[in-house]
Amino acid sequence: MDRSPARWVRPSIQALSAYQVPDPGDAIKLDAMENPWAWPGELADAWLEALRGLELNRYPDPAARELVQCLRECMGVPADASLLLGNGSDELIQMLALAVAGPGRVILAPDPSFVLYRMVADMTGMDFQAVPLAADFRLDRAAMLEAIERHQPAILFLAWPNNPTGTLFDLADMEALLEAAPGLVVVDEAYAPFTDASLLPRVGQYPHLLVLRTLSKMGLAGLRLGYLAGPRDWLAEIDKTRLPYNINALTQASVRFALQRREILDRQAAQIREERERLFHALSALPGVTAWPSEANFILFRVAGAQQVFEALRERGILIKYLGGLGGLLSDCLRVSVGTPEDNARFLGVLGDLL
Ligand SMILES: *Cc1c(COP(=O)(O)O)cnc(C)c1O
Repeated sequence: MDRSPARWVRPSIQALSAYQVPDPGDAIKLDAMENPWAWPGELADAWLEALRGLELNRYPDPAARELVQCLRECMGVPADASLLLGNGSDELIQMLALAVAGPGRVILAPDPSFVLYRMVADMTGMDFQAVPLAADFRLDRAAMLEAIERHQPAILFLAWPNNPTGTLFDLADMEALLEAAPGLVVVDEAYAPFTDASLLPRVGQYPHLLVLRTLSKMGLAGLRLGYLAGPRDWLAEIDKTRLPYNINALTQASVRFALQRREILDRQAAQIREERERLFHALSALPGVTAWPSEANFILFRVAGAQQVFEALRERGILIKYLGGLGGLLSDCLRVSVGTPEDNARFLGVLGDLL
């Protein structure tokens, strides 16, 4: 009897490869857009005190009401927008696809962009259509409009700023796509802490605009919390794809604790933005390096022999991200997250020696 996975696992799943995360060992970790600073030590006791009262034998609040209220106030969510929470924004991306998936249904996104959009399309049996960005990583407005017209996507994902390019697409292009899209337009603002741009205030002005955010890049990646803001009718449907109790009690309490001290995270984000400018200029000054301006907490750059550069950095204890394997516009491209001033100096020093 054949009881093997090959017999039973859906062919479309067998064709996928699992999301790979390298073991950093004790390398300087500049590969995953994490905030490089831990919580100030003197807050640890207060945080543990906030957790002490939790009853871990009980299920968490399924609607995370206090946390939702806290996010609304803290993040300036428009009063008429609904809010849906996810175990990271990754889970919300999956919930969105689950809500609209069906034969022939299309997810559309520019390319390169966040890899998870394609992954969830594959997992949910949707058709993924990628539209190449222009050479300078701006949106190719005409090509996007044509693809929208042709494919009538159920979801258009626009990471704003974009990962892995760091680009902030022109607002006029974003608006043109919003006007044209027949389905949901999900503006993924994972990097909101590092730019002044946001469409969150405009949620409610369009019946099909959703804004996705996460606390991961602003400094709480370990807690796994994302949120989706949008019109009530859409979020009520998407909520039906959510597994019960998806936000655990420790996360609910810890995020509330952190948001009550929001100024610490804001100060860190401001420092990262300053460091980003320093890193960009230093990178651009290195021989043979092309770096692209970024509105996020990382910088994309191109250098000949990028894969060897990546491996040589790794051998010297610095982990960044090699993107050249994806080919196309990303050939010979590397992405480095903005770290502490010390980590960035070490990275630049080693890279400079290699070139
Ligand atoms: C990192 C990232 C996410 C995922 O964030 P989590 O909340 O940690 O799941 C979503 N979108 C983009 C564009 C990202 O770069």
